[in-house]
Amino acid sequence: MADFAKDNAASTPRTIYLKDYQPPAYLVDEVSLRFELEPATTRVNSRLVVRRNPGAETSDGALQLHGQNLELAAIQVNGAALDEADYQLDDEQLLLDGLDDGAVIEIETLIHPDTNTALEGLYISSDMFCTQCEAEGFRRITYFPDRPDVMTRFTTTLVADKARYPVLLSNGNPVDQGEMEDGRHWVTWQDPFPKPSYLFALVAGNLYCQEDSFRTRSGRNVTLKIFVEPENRNKCDHALASLKQAMKWDEDTYGREYDLDIFMIVAVNDFNMGAMENKGLNIFNASCVLASPETATDADYYNIQSIIGHEYFHNWSGNRVTCRDWFQLSLKEGFTVFRDQEFSSDLNSRPVKRISDVNVLRSFQFAQDASPMAHAVRPDAYMEISNFYTVTVYNKGAEVVRMICNLVGREGFRKGCDLYFDRHDGQAVTTDDFVAAMEAANGIDLTQFRRWYSQAGTPVIGASGQYDAQTRTYRLTLTQQCPPTPGQEHKEAFHIPVELALLDSSGQPLALQLEGESSPAGNHRMLELKQTSQQFEFTGIREQPVLSLLSGFSAPVKLQMERSDEELAFLFAHDPDSFNRWNAGQTLASQTLLQLIEQVQQNATLSLQDNFVQAFRKTLQHADLDHALITQALSLPSESYLADQCASVDVDAIHTAREFMRKQLAEQLYDSFLDVYRNPGPDKPYRFDAASMGRRSLRNLCLSYLLESGSDEARELCLSQLQHTHNMTDTLAALSSLSQHNWPERVEQLNRFYDRWKPDPQVIDKWFSIQAGSRLPDTLQQVESLLTHPAFRITNPNKVRALVGKFCMGNQVRFHSSDGEGYRFLTDRVLELDSINPQMAARLVSALSRWKRFDSERQGLMQNELQRILAVTGLSRDVFEIVSKSLD
Ligand SMILES: [Zn+2]
Repeated sequence: MADFAKDNAASTPRTIYLKDYQPPAYLVDEVSLRFELEPATTRVNSRLVVRRNPGAETSDGALQLHGQNLELAAIQVNGAALDEADYQLDDEQLLLDGLDDGAVIEIETLIHPDTNTALEGLYISSDMFCTQCEAEGFRRITYFPDRPDVMTRFTTTLVADKARYPVLLSNGNPVDQGEMEDGRHWVTWQDPFPKPSYLFALVAGNLYCQEDSFRTRSGRNVTLKIFVEPENRNKCDHALASLKQAMKWDEDTYGREYDLDIFMIVAVNDFNMGAMENKGLNIFNASCVLASPETATDADYYNIQSIIGHEYFHNWSGNRVTCRDWFQLSLKEGFTVFRDQEFSSDLNSRPVKRISDVNVLRSFQFAQDASPMAHAVRPDAYMEISNFYTVTVYNKGAEVVRMICNLVGREGFRKGCDLYFDRHDGQAVTTDDFVAAMEAANGIDLTQFRRWYSQAGTPVIGASGQYDAQTRTYRLTLTQQCPPTPGQEHKEAFHIPVELALLDSSGQPLALQLEGESSPAGNHRMLELKQTSQQFEFTGIREQPVLSLLSGFSAPVKLQMERSDEELAFLFAHDPDSFNRWNAGQTLASQTLLQLIEQVQQNATLSLQDNFVQAFRKTLQHADLDHALITQALSLPSESYLADQCASVDVDAIHTAREFMRKQLAEQLYDSFLDVYRNPGPDKPYRFDAASMGRRSLRNLCLSYLLESGSDEARELCLSQLQHTHNMTDTLAALSSLSQHNWPERVEQLNRFYDRWKPDPQVIDKWFSIQAGSRLPDTLQQVESLLTHPAFRITNPNKVRALVGKFCMGNQVRFHSSDGEGYRFLTDRVLELDSINPQMAARLVSALSRWKRFDSERQGLMQNELQRILAVTGLSRDVFEIVSKSLD
């Protein structure tokens, strides 16, 4: 891989290209690290044993050691100290020439954890030392070939004051420890598995440990430990239970066992990401691991289970088999997201999981595909890799893996995975290697399919069907095209699995026989669309069928198809595929909302058709449906999803139309909502299972509709729920519905909630978020004043996400207010954050990157703010990349 250095001649960050990849000149078989941990200055000694890489392209390349913000205190090769003439050093790297195989390099560096606010490398969070090394944080700890294709065995010794830092952790197994006369103690950890430096971790602090164990299917006992700050000792049970579920599931589903004697999780308050899969020592954002019924919602419980699973599954898909370079990030992330989605589906409700995953994809990934930041699942260029931890690499990457599974079937997929792990255990490989294993195990050709990795953009599938009653044939024509994205004007046809069924007039799927087949086989099919236009002819179809297309969302595409409201209402009531049934309801709601949006724009009187209201009523009263599914079906498409459906985004019209529909439904279905809300009543005590979660979600959805009616009765119900409930799900649902209304109780209840929960930072994040998400007109002023609230800290990513992130990414109508104040607010925060935490600043600024989608006045306002950022000297590479690409 090319170096990551900034071009000295200009301040423009250099672009790194996949096509420039080169294997490393040297490999590092062993490294010993010694940390003398002090917040102000930590001394790091490293000892590397290197040898020439037999796979390198030339035999005379220099050893490249990356390093950023380091003080080099000493360097020796084979015991002899070097002076400055013996190496090349700049602010990105250290180069050493002419080393023999087996050369021993000893380096001493000094670093400053207590001033590290970027939260990459070694830093302090709540008086605890911790690390984050993915993607390129290890180079902020010591000089090292900080690239994933250099896999090394690590031995790590931590030295620290015993009273202040009684717990000292690193990867692998503890092998030795001792005490020193000056009050310090030390522990040595050894990781027997070679790993890239991005998987290195250490933690030191005063931590409470909850312990458990897991017996693997081959009979080994693994010790499980969760470390948290002492005040969080009651919040570990769910994470431990989830971990054991994940370990069991990976054995049952993929035949993968855990490989060390100990597995540790540490909860940290200041963390840029959700969690990190460091070998044997996962570090978690506290919000993604701590839970109790009083403080965490169902959504929190659900996410914790899924993220614990995700990080655990990385032990195989990511750690044992890792990425060759960062362009291959989706090799581990797409595959592991797919694995965690399946884990959640197996443990909870599969259709509900699928619906929520597709919602994320459509609301955020499709939007990214339509923006200047559009990129392929395997990007071919970047300036700052941190900017590519995206919904495209993660969520669309998971869809690509899911499509392979759709094409080869469950069994074939498992065979492919077995072969992949077999072939590549202990290696750093590419997405191509993954696909090649699937091909070899299943005897198929996925050459055309690989375009999903290299081409960006959301393909659009067109579908039209013709029924011939005389010949009893149904002819389906499918077409595909993909809009241009930056750097990719023209797209080649994708290989798309399209699952379908044909339904008779009672909603039953018909037996399917394609032309040329001797007899019908099954009542649903996975068609393979490979050309820009293709026809499929079904024979023996006894009546005009209703097409149920893209069942289970078998491919991440947009569907373009003429559908009458009657046909959609029929599918909403009858489709046997739960996903398609929900999708028909969403499409019907979107079509109706798009008509309302037009009415708003023409100043016409708004009206909602009765058949739409009746379809909702029927679903609400459907006794056999899973409660969680009813909740999903009755939740209207989000404002951001509707924005994606419009040629030009009119945020105010979208908001007005959607609010009108909610109010109409609330008034016309008031009694039905009330019935469902009252029956069966709240759950006591709290239980985390699919049925209880479904019940709570439906009751709380009903409550939010009831409040839209504005009735005193509804208000009383909401206040009573706030007063009597003992779980955070019901409390938060009531409070967030209430916070949408400008009633006197609003402020009173928000204050009461704050007073009750102020010692708990996770709960206070929710409090910030509720206020930032309010549709009330003065929300921006509220958010601005909360910036100076004693509980807010701009250096804490969770606080920034909860307040600033929620307002800018989750409150479309207020953020995009026509006076441009929302954009100005965001820009001020981005500039403030860029010198503190560039990763967080870059994530926020992407809210401005879709400016072309809005009216000309907003376009101008957003461009001005982007220009204001670009004019600042010394911008981080992270922010520069997003802003410059957005303006391109
Ligand atoms: Zn991951």
